[in-house]
Amino acid sequence: MRAMILNNPGEPLQLLEKSDPIPGPGEVLVKISACGVCRTDLHVVDGDLPEPKLPIVPGHEIVGHVSILGEGVDKFKVGERIGITWLGHTCGHCAYCKSGAENLCDEPEFTGYQIDGGYADVTVADADFCFPIGGQYSDAEIAPLLCAGLIGYRSLTMAGENSERIGIYGFGAAAHIVTQVACYQNREIYAFTRPGDLVAQKFALDMGAIWAGDSDQTPPQALDAAIIFAPVGALVPSALRAVRKAGIVVCGGIHMSDIPAFPYQILWGERVLRSVANLTRQDAIDFLELAPKIPIQTKIEEFPLEHANLALDALRTGKLTGAAVLIP
Ligand SMILES: [Zn+2]
Ligand SMILES: [Zn+2]
Repeated sequence: MRAMILNNPGEPLQLLEKSDPIPGPGEVLVKISACGVCRTDLHVVDGDLPEPKLPIVPGHEIVGHVSILGEGVDKFKVGERIGITWLGHTCGHCAYCKSGAENLCDEPEFTGYQIDGGYADVTVADADFCFPIGGQYSDAEIAPLLCAGLIGYRSLTMAGENSERIGIYGFGAAAHIVTQVACYQNREIYAFTRPGDLVAQKFALDMGAIWAGDSDQTPPQALDAAIIFAPVGALVPSALRAVRKAGIVVCGGIHMSDIPAFPYQILWGERVLRSVANLTRQDAIDFLELAPKIPIQTKIEEFPLEHANLALDALRTGKLTGAAVLIP
């Protein structure tokens, strides 16, 4: 197999060739056809997230076909197209797992963080955490749905069923998908980008946002909720100022720079500030069923697997419009 591996955070990924892994009981060997590049990968590579398995193959928006079934796997057939997400394994017995909140499991293993992921041409995955993927989309088009889409969808759910006017801070892979879901649900999206990023603002309007502006601007109307995808803590007070009383601000990223001190008055009025962590398998089932009905169109930029460092760099510097996808 060929893989782009991270030996130490802060270093570029290295191309490695080695023999294929063998799937154990309950696992499948998957021939990868596409893997999305998520901001979380960047946090792993840059050392923002503690204690990754090292060396690690990043990547958790994996689309591929089952090539070998491990012992006891009867849920898939050889050749079937499947998706693999960030949630690679949960313990199944902690209080969170037992209460339907497996996204908060006490002993989780995440793909591309504790388990080798999809910046490769093959991988091994726990079959219970893989999802069948039907027709309609190409492999590369599906990839961003598997994390950007899923986390975006979970964030939108957390923004409140009755929230009609929703602000989105940071208009990248997750935002462009969430905007389509929100429009389908007859909600209005207000897109906030890096100040002066007219390309991202035009992209947001093209995707269905009814307003787009700089992150330090005040929206034309008070918002019912806001979702922050950009990993910038200073956006939290901005978003709290943009939402009405009882409005909800959702932080959708796994990592964020420190949140500056802010006056209690902008939280007062029963405004809610919360994070969204990971996903459950039910989120994936629900979202993958919904996506083709809308139908969500993903805007992708393909990179050969060997160019993973370039793709990460484009994401780091805000040069992407939409989502980067690696093709082995
Ligand atoms: Zn658990
Ligand atoms: Zn992700």
